[in-house]
Amino acid sequence: METDTDFTISHTLIHWYHSNKRELPWRDTADPYIIWISEVILQQTRVDQGMGYFLRFTERFPDLSTLAEAEEDETLKYWQGLGYYSRARNMLAAARTIADSFGGVFPSRYEDILSLKGVGEYTAAAIASFAWNQPYPVVDGNVYRVLARLFAIDTPVNSFKGKKTFARIAALLMNPEKAGLHNQAMMEFGALQCVPRNPDCTPCPLSHQCMAYASGSVASFPVKPKKTSVRNRYFHYLHIVHEGDTWINRRSGNDIWKGLYEFPLLETEEAVDFAGLQKTEEFRRLLKDTGIRSVSIELQNVKHILSHQALYATFYKIEIEKGNEALESFVRIPCGSIGEYAVPRLVDIYLEKSGRKVAR
Ligand code: SF4
Repeated sequence: METDTDFTISHTLIHWYHSNKRELPWRDTADPYIIWISEVILQQTRVDQGMGYFLRFTERFPDLSTLAEAEEDETLKYWQGLGYYSRARNMLAAARTIADSFGGVFPSRYEDILSLKGVGEYTAAAIASFAWNQPYPVVDGNVYRVLARLFAIDTPVNSFKGKKTFARIAALLMNPEKAGLHNQAMMEFGALQCVPRNPDCTPCPLSHQCMAYASGSVASFPVKPKKTSVRNRYFHYLHIVHEGDTWINRRSGNDIWKGLYEFPLLETEEAVDFAGLQKTEEFRRLLKDTGIRSVSIELQNVKHILSHQALYATFYKIEIEKGNEALESFVRIPCGSIGEYAVPRLVDIYLEKSGRKVAR
């Protein structure tokens, strides 16, 4: 593609944007902190789903210094239900870095923004262009789709070659003097006009330039990336109860949900019933000499889909006569206070269904 020297596509997009954009609380601000929070929330999250989280989060943490001083547990609590919890942990780490290394002022240099934990090229470009009008094109899923159709690009977007191709074209289209507006317009155009399924191309202001439309092949673009395989995991949660108390654990390591709380968890390679679970070494160790009084299955085989993982979870409520040494490695809490802890959505579903959830 040749350089669009008159920036006609950019001009059309911006014109369209002024008439069609949604009024959103993070629009029309040049505050890099607010832009950053909104962009992180909107990664992997729809606007209608993320809106409440954005409002609650920015009400509690209205600026960088408030966030930098926050406890991780509290930020995760405000994130609860959004998924991809590393986003919240990384945001906290980045806020602390800005407080320690940038004098508490959000850095404006693209390379500095990109150096912050959890900030990739997309988010750095969004912040640099929306807050300071710097000419860095954003290339998210919406933009990939628009570009793939406009120029009938058949390279899968997740391939190395695809990323380079789309980044180059996005840069060529951008009017550097209107970088922020151009990026916002392009993203909104992908979200509202050039939608994934059956876009209404007839009134589209770019239909005369659109190669996919001209060739009647809109549905063929963008070319779908190859599917990655999904890993099945089998979770068995033990809601152990003794004298009104229960035990929970804060997840650590490099697995999902780091920093969130959950009941003692046994994971098996395959689906097993309670008889099979009882035979595992971990179950025996955990419940040894506790004098099990009763066991009930509260939720069985709940399917919970994450990216590249399918979890199948069963929740057992187990009443015991006394604690043991193994349980001492967990946090003992009154059953009624579980709602005060940030828990994964899966555990939240269980708490909701069993009426144990305490309002935030
Ligand atoms: S003509 Fe259709 S496919 Fe092409 S940019 Fe417009 S909405 Fe998208």
